[in-house]
Amino acid sequence: MYKSIKDELQKDLESIKLNGLFKKERVITSKQGSQISTASNHNVLNFCANNYLGLSSNEEIINAGIETLKVYGYGLSSVRFICGTQDIHKRLEEKTAQFLGMEDCILYAAAFDANGGLFEPLLSKEDAVISDELNHASIIDGVRLCKAKRFRYSHNDMTSLEEQLKLASSQRRKLIVTDGSFSMDGTVAQLDKICDLADKYEALVMIDECHSTGFIGKRGRGVHEYHNVMDRVDIITGTYGKALGGASGGFTAARKEIVDILRQHSRPYLFSNSVAPVVVGASLKALEIISESTYLKNKLEKNTAYFRSEMTAAGFDVLPGIHPIVAIMLYDAKLAQKFSEKLLEEGVYVVGFFYPVVPRGKARIRVQLSAAHEIKQIEKAVKCFVKIGKKLKVV
Ligand SMILES: *Cc1c(COP(=O)(O)O)cnc(C)c1O
Repeated sequence: MYKSIKDELQKDLESIKLNGLFKKERVITSKQGSQISTASNHNVLNFCANNYLGLSSNEEIINAGIETLKVYGYGLSSVRFICGTQDIHKRLEEKTAQFLGMEDCILYAAAFDANGGLFEPLLSKEDAVISDELNHASIIDGVRLCKAKRFRYSHNDMTSLEEQLKLASSQRRKLIVTDGSFSMDGTVAQLDKICDLADKYEALVMIDECHSTGFIGKRGRGVHEYHNVMDRVDIITGTYGKALGGASGGFTAARKEIVDILRQHSRPYLFSNSVAPVVVGASLKALEIISESTYLKNKLEKNTAYFRSEMTAAGFDVLPGIHPIVAIMLYDAKLAQKFSEKLLEEGVYVVGFFYPVVPRGKARIRVQLSAAHEIKQIEKAVKCFVKIGKKLKVV
C-alpha cells in the first residue's frame, strides 16, 4: 500500500522544491545567544531568535532549572487532573497572572496548545469570533475547532473591525481576537482602540502576547500595558518559549471563571502531559528576574532604537515601529533570499521571508534584536547590511 503513497509524497516534495519553498533547517551547535555556532559557520552574530531579553542561556535560569530538576524530578508522567499537580505549577500560574495583572492563569505544553484549546470551551454556534486576518496559525487552528461564526477584519484596520462587529451584532457572545505584536511586521495592535470598540459592541477581547510578554510596555507586561488598557483585556495567551527563557510552555491568563472553565473543558490541557518541572522552575526564575528590574527590557529598547535609526539613516526601507522585530523591506523574494545568504557569509544570521509567509511582493529580511546584543555587534550588523546592500544595489 505504502508504495503508491510514497510516490505521491515524493512528487509533493519535488514540487515544494521546484517552487523554491522547501524549508531547510540550519544546525546550531552552541547554546542560544547573540553569538552562535552553526554546523557550517563558527561565530555567527544571531539576529533571528526570539531571545528578546537574552534569557535563553542566562546563568541564574540554568541554575534554577538544575535545582528544580534535583528537587522535583525530571517528569510528571501525568496529566494534572488525573494524577495531581506539583506546587511549582500552581506557583507559576499565580506569578504569571500577577505579572500580567490578570485574575488567574492555566498552563499548557505550548502557546500553540493554549490557542488550540481556548475557543471551543467558551464559544458555540450562537457566538462570534472577530479575528485579525494576520493572526498566528495557532489562533486560526483554535478557531477552526469551535463552532462560533467567524468574522475576519483587515489587518490592524479599526474601520474594518467595526464593520465586522456590526455584522456580528446578533450573535450571543462576541470575542475579538488579535496578536498583541505581529511577528512578520513588528506591528503592535491598537489595543486601546480595540477595547473602545469592544465596549461599544459588547465584545470580549483576547490577545496573543507571544511576541510581547516580558518586553513591551513600561514594565514589560505587554501590549495591554503599552496601550494603558491593563484592566480591559479579558484573555491573554502567551509563551515561556520566547522572551521568558525560551524553553517551552504556554499559558492562558484570563478572568477567573474563564480559566476555571478551561480547566474543566480545554482539551490540550485535559489530554496532554504536565509541563516539565525543570521548565516550570526556570520560568519562575525568568519572571522573577524581569519583575525585579527592567534593565534587560531597557537595554533591548536601546538596541532596537539604535538599529532602527542606523538602518533608516543608511537608506534601507524599514517598516516603522518600536518593536524589536524589524522588517527590512526588499519586496523581491529572490533578492531577500540572496541578501540573507550573503549576510550569513559575512557572519550575520538573519532570515529572508517571502510568499507564502508574507504576501506576494512583500519579501523582506526580518531582524530580531535582543538584550543580549552589544552595540558593537549591532554596528557590525549594520555595516554588513550596508556592504551587501550596496553590492545588490538596494542602497
Ligand atoms: C510562537 C507563537 C506561538 C506558539 O508558541 P509556542 O509556545 O512555541 O507554541 C503562538 N502565537 C504566536 C503569535 C507566536 O508567535
